[in-house]
Amino acid sequence: NTFAEIDLGEALNHNIQRCKYVKPTPVQRYAIPISLSGRDLMACAQTGSGKTAAFCFPIISGIMREQYVQRPRVARTAFPLALILSPTRELSCQIHDEAKKFSYQTGVKVVVAYGGAPITQQLRELERGVDILVATPGRLVDLLERARVSLQMIRYLALDEADRMLDMGFEPQIRKIVEQMDMPPPGMRQTLLFSATFPKEIQWAGEEGNDGKLLIKV
Ligand code: AMP
Repeated sequence: NTFAEIDLGEALNHNIQRCKYVKPTPVQRYAIPISLSGRDLMACAQTGSGKTAAFCFPIISGIMREQYVQRPRVARTAFPLALILSPTRELSCQIHDEAKKFSYQTGVKVVVAYGGAPITQQLRELERGVDILVATPGRLVDLLERARVSLQMIRYLALDEADRMLDMGFEPQIRKIVEQMDMPPPGMRQTLLFSATFPKEIQWAGEEGNDGKLLIKV
């Protein structure tokens, strides 16, 4: 049970080695095979459990295989293939830093956007092309309203610390964000949800073969 035995694509496997990860942590052992099989996932994971890699590896691996997807690469409106939502600037930056290490020389571009900082630099980054967008919900809604990001091409949606996002009052923003994702054919968009706790507010709309639509009941 080592990363070398999981085929995540040569460049990503190489980066994992470079990060000196040998054995998957428990949440990775559970989450990575499910994500690679294309299924939606809800996982209970605390900080320090290795959850960042648990959602980054399948996303990066999937995008490496999806590089053929036709979309504007460098444009005023960015068309990311994956969206990672997290509650805070600190967590978003941490995820961005890790995701960049994992995607080194894979051709997969990661950009971060968070609130409480000038938007200009983030807009400039987005214009240069983005495959994986790591964002806090409020800033992403701002970018959507300015039409500087489109979620039409999203194939992977990861929600990190979902319970904390709800605690912080981000439910309306998350709803707005999920509404903007064009409904791809079943199985075309994957949702990976990570949360430290599972209050009954966090639930799926459907189970097996669900339409990829996330329901957060409050
Ligand atoms: P996270 O829970 O994602 O914040 O990860 C906690 C820490 O564990 C980070 O510093 C990761 O770089 C590290 N880490 C994650 N997965 C592994 C692994 N399989 N082997 C060794 N270190 C890991």
